[in-house]
Amino acid sequence: MALSPSDLPDWPHFIIQSMADGVITVDGEMRVTDLNRASEKLTGFTRQEALGRFCGEVLQSSMCGRECPLKMAMSSGEIISREAVLTNRFGNKIEVMLSASALKDDKGNLLGGVETFRDIAPLKHLENERRRLVSMFAHDLKAPVVGMAGLLSRLLRGKTGKLKKDQISLLEMIHGEMQRLENLITNFLDYSRLDLHIITPVRSAVQVEKECLEVINRLRPQAEEKDITLKLESPQDIIVLQADPILFQRALGNLTDNAIKYSPPESIVTLTVRDLGEEVQFAVQDQGPGIDTQDLPHLFELLYRGKGSGQESGLGLGLAIVKRIVDAHGGRIWVESEAGKGSTFFFTLPKKFNFE
Ligand code: ADP
Repeated sequence: MALSPSDLPDWPHFIIQSMADGVITVDGEMRVTDLNRASEKLTGFTRQEALGRFCGEVLQSSMCGRECPLKMAMSSGEIISREAVLTNRFGNKIEVMLSASALKDDKGNLLGGVETFRDIAPLKHLENERRRLVSMFAHDLKAPVVGMAGLLSRLLRGKTGKLKKDQISLLEMIHGEMQRLENLITNFLDYSRLDLHIITPVRSAVQVEKECLEVINRLRPQAEEKDITLKLESPQDIIVLQADPILFQRALGNLTDNAIKYSPPESIVTLTVRDLGEEVQFAVQDQGPGIDTQDLPHLFELLYRGKGSGQESGLGLGLAIVKRIVDAHGGRIWVESEAGKGSTFFFTLPKKFNFE
């Protein structure tokens, strides 16, 4: 039968001892004052051996010294979370996610610091599996699709002899499907590479208006097919920001592409740029069907398609890619929309960004 809290003399102690995460506490001089069973297992020190030792002896990591998360947390009062590699007593390297915070009493007096850490080896293993899968997709799946699309277009151009009308129309259909598949693979790969940080922004000075116009000009033929007017509203002054121009165009292009795709014919899609000082705000507004409130919180998730996507083809990758790009630049993204009243997708990018 399970005991209730009142049956146990020191309930918090039992909670900490039974936790799956490692917990270690130090005093103001960074000497270990307590550690739980999970910490004993991870570090290789028993509680008795660890008590009174300097924290860095028990929890050795590359961050010991000036970057010590515990010291930083104790001096700033903030919670510091980091991925780190610990070396335990037996010289084994263990990848952990750690969180350090100042340990204070009820009156706010500093007693020392507390660090919790979790072995993330299983997560890292999964991440490596994903990396392997992504590179397998990149090499083994994309190459034949691109190759087949090339061969098909040679056939279509009559390189192997004149084709009959119905042969051409069949080949055109196959070619269209191949392009859809190639698009899907490219988008999936781009998403995965951004998500796994295989692609990171390559910084350069981006002249905002010029890049926006390039996106608009590239998508104009698509808009013209539906008699949609594409407008750019941007400040007179030249705005320059530090960003990856290819990723920036990709993000803006995906939003504008969606705005065109989901808009009715003869409507207006407006791209607005606002200089907010430290950052630049971009808004892509359409007069389309709008987005159901139930869909709004999920739009930026991978493979999510809203109820309003209707007959439009798509896979729910476009917005997930935009979000990863904006996140990688340290910006924010959100959407304002009401069913039947059009949608506006916003994102901001800092003008100066410290790329890691
Ligand atoms: P896809 O368009 O391929 O479905 P996205 O990730 O680009 O994938 O978009 C996810 C969903 O968000 C879409 O399925 C659609 O429901 C909704 N959506 C995106 N942009 C718009 C828009 N401008 N107007 C209405 N709905 C939109």
